Amino acid sequence: MSSTTGHHPGRIGIMAAMPEELQALLDVMPDETMQRVAGREFWVGHLHGREVVAVLSRIGKVAAATTTTMLLSHYGVDQVIFTGVAGGLGEGVRVGDVVVADALIQHDMDASPLFPRFELPGQGVSALSPPAAFTARVRETVEQVLSPASLAAGGALADVHLAALQLAQPRVHQGLIISGDQFINAAQTCRELIQVLPAALAVEMEGAAVAQVCHDFSVPYAVIRTISDRADDDAHIDFPRFIDAVARHYSLAIVEALLQRV
Ligand code: SAH
Repeated sequence: MSSTTGHHPGRIGIMAAMPEELQALLDVMPDETMQRVAGREFWVGHLHGREVVAVLSRIGKVAAATTTTMLLSHYGVDQVIFTGVAGGLGEGVRVGDVVVADALIQHDMDASPLFPRFELPGQGVSALSPPAAFTARVRETVEQVLSPASLAAGGALADVHLAALQLAQPRVHQGLIISGDQFINAAQTCRELIQVLPAALAVEMEGAAVAQVCHDFSVPYAVIRTISDRADDDAHIDFPRFIDAVARHYSLAIVEALLQRV
């Protein structure tokens, strides 16, 4: 599998933001065993011939950073894949689309006037990026999984009924994802975020923390988010229904494809 594509078939860490996404993954892993460390349940096993450690990230930056550190330091994974949902910010980023991060910023990091707003103190940058070649492979894989042809073919995505949910064919976007310890559900807050971070495509609560830890460990990572809401005044209404009907299916199909490609 991975040997034919020339990629390093190491141990891969998979972080799911939602219990439904993790469960979908565990359902297809044949041999996983659970280890409880630091109050988290790490599932160690295999999928598609790869060694996998799957875990719920938990919500928020500190929780996600701790989980990531455990994956890297305790389990020695050499790649991290994060899947979850996010609020859409960018123009044309619709519910049901998928965003692959090529840069991540903590939108609530502000040590000004000591450091410019958003800058990570001591690191001299605000945005962190996974290796470009890795992101390109991830993006291509996600595009393939969600292409009209593969959606029409059914398979892993046969249970997603886009028309019934009044969703369009998903578009795959690549760009900036912003993270903070805040569920954004007000149009006014969205406008404020876009004003200060105009390139932001999506907002969520973990990605930039995962990025910071992976950056420190020099391990490639992907943050892949299905847009569950527009982070506006209806954000909380759209949310649970969407995870069950769409996000967990996309997430599983994407992770399975990535295991064979990255
Ligand atoms: N209802 C959930 C709470 C989820 S909090 C529960 O009961 O557990 C929202 C989660 O989805 C976070 O992990 C965050 O990363 C992501 N998310 C989705 N939409 C978001 C938004 N509009 N603002 C911030 N985070 C969002």
